[in-house]
Amino acid sequence: MSHYTETLVIGGGPAGLTAAYLLAKEGRSVTVLERDPVQVGGISRTVSHNGFLFDIGGHRFFSKSKAVVDLWDELLPNDFIERPRLSRIFYKGKYYAYPLKAFEALRNLGLIESIACVGSYLLARARPIPEPKTFHQWVRNRFGERLFSIFFKTYTEKVWGMSCDAISADWAAQRINGLDLGAAIRDALVRSLGLTKRPRAGEPVIKTLIQSFRYPRRGPGMMWEAAAEKVVAKGGRIVLDRGVDGLRYDARANLWTVTALSGAGIRETYTARNVISSAPLRELVASITPTPISTFNARALQYRDFLTVALIARTDRDFPDNWIYIHDPSVQVGRVQNFRSWSPEMVPDAGHTCLGLEYFCFEGDGLWTASDADLVALAKREIGQIGLIDPDDVVDACVVRQPKAYPVYDEDYKAHVDTIRRDLEHAYPTLHLVGRNGMHKYNNQDHAMMTAMLTVQNILAGTRRFDPWCVNEDAEYTEAGVSGAQDALGSERLVPCRAA
Ligand SMILES: Cc1cc2nc3c(=O)[nH]c(=O)nc-3n(C[C@H](O)[C@H](O)[C@H](O)COP(=O)(O)OP(=O)(O)OC[C@H]3O[C@@H](n4cnc5c(N)ncnc54)[C@H](O)[C@@H]3O)c2cc1C
Repeated sequence: MSHYTETLVIGGGPAGLTAAYLLAKEGRSVTVLERDPVQVGGISRTVSHNGFLFDIGGHRFFSKSKAVVDLWDELLPNDFIERPRLSRIFYKGKYYAYPLKAFEALRNLGLIESIACVGSYLLARARPIPEPKTFHQWVRNRFGERLFSIFFKTYTEKVWGMSCDAISADWAAQRINGLDLGAAIRDALVRSLGLTKRPRAGEPVIKTLIQSFRYPRRGPGMMWEAAAEKVVAKGGRIVLDRGVDGLRYDARANLWTVTALSGAGIRETYTARNVISSAPLRELVASITPTPISTFNARALQYRDFLTVALIARTDRDFPDNWIYIHDPSVQVGRVQNFRSWSPEMVPDAGHTCLGLEYFCFEGDGLWTASDADLVALAKREIGQIGLIDPDDVVDACVVRQPKAYPVYDEDYKAHVDTIRRDLEHAYPTLHLVGRNGMHKYNNQDHAMMTAMLTVQNILAGTRRFDPWCVNEDAEYTEAGVSGAQDALGSERLVPCRAA
């Protein structure tokens, strides 16, 4: 038996649920198929373990887009808390405030190393590498070689599992855009002198330097559970434990036939006018018939995977950071999350703490395939080495693996994604790509949501009025530099998009 729905959404993460909610609100029939057997939220879910709550990473809610912020408030009107942001870098046994504090950095690095950093910065400014292509070249041009090797190299290589010479400059431009040494030093001095700096009206906000953020009091999963409930209340369907593994397009009837498999091996068939997909682009393309001509390009897309070892300790030792970047090359852990600092409600009682040790890996490598017991032992050893808690105080632990946490920006990804996008748009006009892995974009929730919002506008209008590929990493809809998803959503104007 086949189930009919006007729009079928693959994936119940932020992008898929945003699309489903907005369609259901307009009275349209919509069904979300989510592979996870127990919960929605995707990478933005909150995991619960014996009363302790934790994120996959830590999810700050920050957006320059009013449309996104308004939707967050609509979905979760009473449960946001405002949290101070505190994060530090751990490097060679010392902690550095992040963003940096000038005098502390000077004290930790020592006068000679600090002078060497400034010298290498001046050299980089005087003789920049023309048209930097790699992460290394891009950062070296902005900060100098020495600062690159202290504050960027080890952590970035832990995250991506590859040399900074093989990572595209696009990633640096996206993640640390707006920040250069001048801005960082001004900010570091202001912080060192204890002056709080609020951006003046119209002054661009540098995301890396934001000092506070919003957070649902029981983690980001709270937002997406609320969204799912609202979808169902408005007549939409959400079906868990359904991994979509086949999409057949009938061009004459302009109809999709979609098959999904449950964990128990039961297959279901759905038919739909539109398909919105937030599934990883590589998997999606492989499951479409007739076979897309960009199959070869999709196969070349790569992902970086991720696992968290949550250590629960009975201790009164606490530290105020939300998270600590572990640049230190002597341990494998990349970042430590302190979930109580995200929200006190993430930890059920005051006598315990819950730390998330984050390891970046590739599906199938030694870390990914290690047993949970071995991973817990590794995490305990490394947390002892860093000195944040005593491993003997750990009373419980839990391992969560997250495949395809990061779409990889290697040298060729952009050309491949452009080809896939053009191919799919041409051959399958009613297939809409949204979200992080859905568009192979290293994005935050707000970007994923904005691509879904514009897609819904297109479906409601019956034509591709807006181009979700024109949403930049700040969730702004760009028309040659003029912003605003809000503008785009609120106005009737059709905007020409020049995004690649
Ligand atoms: C470590 C880390 C930290 C982060 N921190 C932040 C932060 O501070 N702030 C922020 O805003 N964002 C943050 N993000 C990014 C955020 O998690 C993502 O932008 C967001 O979850 C993307 O939403 P999405 O719906 O596009 O994709 P996903 O969250 O990946 O959801 C996709 C869903 O589709 C399902 N799915 C996939 N394939 C299929 C299939 N074939 N059939 C059925 N279902 C399928 C998946 O199970 C998943 O539930 C972070 C990400 C990571 C990895």
